[in-house]
Amino acid sequence: MKIFDAHTHLNDTPFLGKEQEFIDHARELAVVKMAIVGSNTDLNEKSIALSQRFAELYSIVGFHPDDSKYFNDTTKAELITQLQQPKTVAVGEIGLDYHWDASPRDVQRQVFKEQLDLAHELHMPVNVHTRDALEDTYAILKDSKVADYGGVLHSFSGDREWMQKFLDLGMMISFSGVVSFKNAKDVHEAAIAVPLDRVLVETDAPYLTPTPYRGKQNEPGYTRYVAEAIAKLRDMPVEEVAAATYKNTLEIYGIKED
Ligand SMILES: [Zn+2]
Repeated sequence: MKIFDAHTHLNDTPFLGKEQEFIDHARELAVVKMAIVGSNTDLNEKSIALSQRFAELYSIVGFHPDDSKYFNDTTKAELITQLQQPKTVAVGEIGLDYHWDASPRDVQRQVFKEQLDLAHELHMPVNVHTRDALEDTYAILKDSKVADYGGVLHSFSGDREWMQKFLDLGMMISFSGVVSFKNAKDVHEAAIAVPLDRVLVETDAPYLTPTPYRGKQNEPGYTRYVAEAIAKLRDMPVEEVAAATYKNTLEIYGIKED
């Protein structure tokens, strides 16, 4: 069995200097590839450095809505260079976060749109973060013709109706540890309904630790428990969830296996 963690932050502080350990532990749990996601110039740089150091890691770079206030001509030029690195596979994480409002909402929307334009120009898929902002996120993605270059809605935590709207835009749906939480009934329904050729799995580590480790620090290897939670909900072998999500992740990120 092979599992791909489609969105994780091994470039973040809790993992610093211990990356090899976490990669080895992930491998023991059958998690053999990871996409390392940045959110600003510094974390994007660290993501790329890790992807250059480890064969099983890929890089996703962009400006998170919280950090969109730092997006300007200089940082945009740096991002364009980072997007052209050989192991950079997507633009992300980008989107809207109206929960924390760490950047003004009009700035978030503008920076989201500019990065969607970049993705379109460079023919790269996007990895999208949305929190308390489903309506605006949907409207902007719809306008930007995301189906032309591909998109992943990361750590999906909406209901089945919302999922269908994003599926209809041609996007992939990525589930995190939230799907393993007992009370996340809406997310369970979505995970049961999602077509097997449109679903990915991720940890978003160090955040959102899945059951049975909820409350402890998350790590990429725990993608295994996300896949298991989906398999249990759908009453199918975890191997099938692993195989489908692995294949989908390679396809959306344009990764060729030797
Ligand atoms: Zn994330």
